[in-house]
Amino acid sequence: MQIDPKKCVACGNCVAVCPMGAIYIDRKINRAIVNTEECVECYTCFRGMSMERLPPTIVRSIRSVLKVFRLRFDPEPDVCPTSAIIPDELTWPRTVRRAFSDVTATHESTGILGRGTEEVKTNDVTNRLGEGRAGLTVELGRPGIGVWFRDVQQVTQTLAAARVAFEEKNPITAMMVERDTGHLNPEILNEKVMSCIIEFSVAMHEVESVLVVLREVAGRIPTIMALGIAARCDATGHTELEEILSDAGYPYLRAKTNVGIGRADPIPELLAEPALEGSA
Ligand code: SF4
Ligand code: SF4
Repeated sequence: MQIDPKKCVACGNCVAVCPMGAIYIDRKINRAIVNTEECVECYTCFRGMSMERLPPTIVRSIRSVLKVFRLRFDPEPDVCPTSAIIPDELTWPRTVRRAFSDVTATHESTGILGRGTEEVKTNDVTNRLGEGRAGLTVELGRPGIGVWFRDVQQVTQTLAAARVAFEEKNPITAMMVERDTGHLNPEILNEKVMSCIIEFSVAMHEVESVLVVLREVAGRIPTIMALGIAARCDATGHTELEEILSDAGYPYLRAKTNVGIGRADPIPELLAEPALEGSA
């Protein structure tokens, strides 16, 4: 993203809008500047603010006059009064920033918006997590910090060494050049994104050892790591995770339960029911 210095009147509205803190007012030139290293191309500033088309010269003059009287010309807080915020023509590898950070962008590898994965939420129909396995999600960068792919790679390398099975339908897996080592495409390592999700599964008995290595790598990367873990319930609604997590010293809090409404296959018991009288 860039800000046109010919149009910007340094009202400062866009500074508060940027989730990465990448926009600042340069008081020497009295213009807003985007720190392109920190900008993740989320488009929040461009899409989230109303763009007015006031003439920059007139707005600057009004602001200067009002300043003399210790008054301010302040546009509404969600408005860029002079339409000074302009998207860049993104090229590879910078395009990866937008793919992971702009909620309206679709990932080419999975065809899904946002972080590019349905996670285990659609397990009813995708069956990505089978019996006897635990599915883990490692979310990096959220909220409000972001993450560099060089740090994402530290996590994927650690997990590859622990012999996890990376999820196929996930854009981070698609970025790996070697799954056995967890190496990502070297061209993206110096790109930053708002957040991303690494997904993988392990056998139940491997959960505790994976939690140990994740805790170790979390201490080495300068961002936030959030861990999610899922398993199939048995007929009584129980999973082995309760005991495994308790033994490993983690509180067991059931967050989301997928009740199995979204079935891919017909339910045999329902098919066996006789058709209602008069029904087609
Ligand atoms: S909102 Fe527009 S005019 Fe105001 S500081 Fe940002 S880019 Fe400049
Ligand atoms: S695109 Fe996103 S990260 Fe970049 S300057 Fe705008 S709000 Fe900030």
